[in-house]
Amino acid sequence: MPYIQFLGAAGTVTGSKHLINTTNDSSGKQGFHVLIDCGLFQGQKEWRERNWQDIPMPAREIDAVILTHAHLDHCGWIPRLVKEGFRGPIYATQPTIDLCSVVLPDSGHLQEEDAAFHNKKGTSKHSPALPLYTLEEAQDCLQYFKPVAVEQTKQLSPELSFRYVRAAHILGSCMAEVVLKTDGHVRRLLFTGDLGRVRDDEIAPGKVVHSGPQEGETADVLVMESTYGNRHHPDTDPRPQLASLIRKTTERGGSVIVPAFAVERTQKFLFILKEMMESGDVPRVPVFCDSPMAIKAVEIFMKHSEEYTPQAAQLIRKYGSPVEWPGFTFAQTAEESKKINENSYPSIIVSSSGMVTGGRILHHLAQRLPDPRNLVIFIGFQAPGTRGAIIKDHSARGQAAEVKIFGQFIPIRAQVAAIEQFSDHADPPEMLEWLRTFKNKPRVTYLVHGEPAASSQLRDLLKQELGWNVQVAEYRERVDVD
Ligand SMILES: [Zn+2]
Repeated sequence: MPYIQFLGAAGTVTGSKHLINTTNDSSGKQGFHVLIDCGLFQGQKEWRERNWQDIPMPAREIDAVILTHAHLDHCGWIPRLVKEGFRGPIYATQPTIDLCSVVLPDSGHLQEEDAAFHNKKGTSKHSPALPLYTLEEAQDCLQYFKPVAVEQTKQLSPELSFRYVRAAHILGSCMAEVVLKTDGHVRRLLFTGDLGRVRDDEIAPGKVVHSGPQEGETADVLVMESTYGNRHHPDTDPRPQLASLIRKTTERGGSVIVPAFAVERTQKFLFILKEMMESGDVPRVPVFCDSPMAIKAVEIFMKHSEEYTPQAAQLIRKYGSPVEWPGFTFAQTAEESKKINENSYPSIIVSSSGMVTGGRILHHLAQRLPDPRNLVIFIGFQAPGTRGAIIKDHSARGQAAEVKIFGQFIPIRAQVAAIEQFSDHADPPEMLEWLRTFKNKPRVTYLVHGEPAASSQLRDLLKQELGWNVQVAEYRERVDVD
């Protein structure tokens, strides 16, 4: 009997990795073996250490990887899988492959930097500390990627085929519909990857890619994400609040600093900003996009116009590529980045990393946090313990505080705001709306990709509202597909 084994994103939101084995054979000698996603564990040390553990089957025995999208928590372990001997095809949509060609080498570079840092400081129990994989190894794995068009059926073995359908999460993101034909049975498995928001034009404006995941699905087994399982997105339009915050800051001579994830979030924010400047809601101050990866991602976005929402398509028709918008500067080099620091006039700086864990945003915040005229706007989730969370929580408590950047305590005197509507994940009412379009009731639904409280709350909600059989997946748990 075929089975699924959850090798990541169970009890946490990172490390997505689900193994399908078409026979009940864990030796890897028989059957066909597919990994749905191959993501990196991130965040707390307890999770990151799992990146160093072996998977239950030798990497060379895995026949293929089906990738849902280019976020590191879904694709960031691929170079390691290849390093350990995997040589099969890695299926992905073309935009996902293009994004991976930027995101994975960058991840390899960071792994090398981390190892070098630990070796210099002597802070690793391993001597020498080694990177999980290098930039070169990440580049090397790109040769195994194979593009698959959306809604094209791909037969991987006599018993297993799959098809991508839109997930509407980020550029190129898709769900994987897997069809298993074994023992005279046909079973349909649907892996959502990360699910975008449902019909979100008004409440989440500026979305660049497709609005809403594919409706009318059929599945015997559903494996669904649950990141926002216990939270609701605000249902108000964020633009008036955003415009007012930016206007007041520039009027008092301050600058606006926006930490943003390089892929999707930065592009979305730039589109909104452009629209608000053109409509006169926001004054025309210089905008600096200071993230080399975000700039590369803008170029990839421009290549894939088939992915745009009608609003994004209209904006690009009207104003052209963001990298050519007057007043918007894209800082490629470190020198260009440093020059932004010398500006004393009001400006808007969008930079990464989104949770202030590293990257060029550190320079901008170290420079501008002590000045009360400035404003920091968070537009993304801030994981507990990150600098982003420390700065954001300080504003919630309304207390004077400081944050450590480059070994120095920087006082937080700037205004801090958070706008929660920019999420690229569906919340429970949106998930229910989507699940209600299913043509059948899945025999079983497994919830993955959520903190335990989020997954269990969503499980209870789905049971109550839909009467479905819903379970929360556990790490390394094996479930039969009967
Ligand atoms: Zn994602």
